[in-house]
Amino acid sequence: MSEPAGVRGEFDGLVAVVTGGASGIGKAVAEELATRGAQVGVLDLKDTEFVCDVTDDDSVRRAVTAVAERFGRIDVLVNNAGIGAQGTVAGNDDAEWLRVFDVNVVGIARVTRAALPYLRRSPHAAVVNTCSIAATAGLPQRALYSASKGAVLALTRAMAADHIREGIRVNCVTPGTVDTPWVRRLLDTAPDPDAERAALCARQPHGRLVTAQEVACAVAYLAGPASGSTVGIELPVDGGMAGLRLRPV
Ligand code: NAD
Repeated sequence: MSEPAGVRGEFDGLVAVVTGGASGIGKAVAEELATRGAQVGVLDLKDTEFVCDVTDDDSVRRAVTAVAERFGRIDVLVNNAGIGAQGTVAGNDDAEWLRVFDVNVVGIARVTRAALPYLRRSPHAAVVNTCSIAATAGLPQRALYSASKGAVLALTRAMAADHIREGIRVNCVTPGTVDTPWVRRLLDTAPDPDAERAALCARQPHGRLVTAQEVACAVAYLAGPASGSTVGIELPVDGGMAGLRLRPV
């Protein structure tokens, strides 16, 4: 990954919590916000000071409180932790449906609930959720994942409506296919990884995978003062799929 591209000092004095921040998009977000001046508490299952499972309410409360005690405040929450699933609607059993929703949707509710008392005290409070083009694109073989990200989109808008009068802005990013460890793991298990990578690139109008840093810069924009009047939107970072109204087949 190239050097973070951010605006130095934009987040000076502010504290951000990034879930799933030990890998991929979340790691790039944590680095970008830190470059722009934020102190960042990375919440993840491992490889961080603030170990946390977003499916466990006690673990979430402990980790959010630990970040607030360590840095004295929380101004920005990036709900990014997420897991994938492949298959048609019948391709995953109930346990798998509940597991993915527990991480991707209820996880956002848990972490936000724990962070709200701190966000309410911040004059610059912002929440950014990591959604996906899967929320609206009708991707084949992604029924469960798409449903979970559709819920993230709806939740983003509902949260935005509920909390804007408290001074908390809520928005989300909707990335296309991003070059992260998750996608690389998927490619590694494909029968022909090179062909699969080429197909993923071809699906995006700009002909390549999105970089995690590009998503991180979009998150930083939505989390920072430059977007002070932007509320309840989804910001596509997808090489043109949403903007050009393209649908994968
Ligand atoms: P990744 O697997 O590289 O990173 C995800 C991180 O989330 C990991 O560090 C993992 O440990 C953490 N995590 C998973 N379950 C957790 C839990 N229960 N509690 C705490 N942390 C947990 O994946 P990524 O590609 O960086 O994806 C990050 C987010 O971006 C996800 O929400 C994903 O749905 C979304 N997204 C990814 C892509 C893509 O193409 N990679 C596209 C659109 C949206």
